[in-house]
Amino acid sequence: ISSSRLTVNAASERSYIMIKPDGVQRGLVGDIISRFERKGFALKGLKLFQTPQDLAEEHYSELKERPFFPALVKYIVSGPVVCMVWEGPGVVASARKLIGATNPLNAEPGTIRGDFAIVSGRNVVHGSDSPANGEREIALWFKEGELVDWEPTVLPWVLEL
Ligand code: GDP
Ligand code: MG
Repeated sequence: ISSSRLTVNAASERSYIMIKPDGVQRGLVGDIISRFERKGFALKGLKLFQTPQDLAEEHYSELKERPFFPALVKYIVSGPVVCMVWEGPGVVASARKLIGATNPLNAEPGTIRGDFAIVSGRNVVHGSDSPANGEREIALWFKEGELVDWEPTVLPWVLEL
């Protein structure tokens, strides 16, 4: 199979997925990454990272008027996070389904939050809520050269290429 056939089509998109400090501390990194791998999405960026205060505030800037904002920022900077870029058709909406509802008590069993969390303030993982926000967040969390331009060789077994 020629490598040019493995290029993801224009309908593909990217999501910024982050394992929050509680997910790292609780040893859930492998399980969470595995769920995105098994689904068939392609991992394009991955790092363990200690978040600076200003980046946490910028990432959640849409929520800065909410009463929980200070606690949210404190939570995000409280320990290392795992920053990821996942790519594939419909990855943004699909990742939100894999992650589950913001309040883990409303998250279905089988989702990450449904399986591993109880309260919104310790809900283990972040996923972009739109393709545009995905690109905004990827630019915020990853520098030039930190993402890897590659395609899994199994792609024709996952997508109809
Ligand atoms: P998400 O897209 O499902 O992560 O939810 P939002 O974008 O609405 O909120 C961002 C994050 O803020 C959530 O993942 C929670 O960690 C936190 N958060 C949202 N709502 C609440 C809340 O009512 N209370 C607390 N303590 N945290 C919240
Ligand atoms: Mg959100």
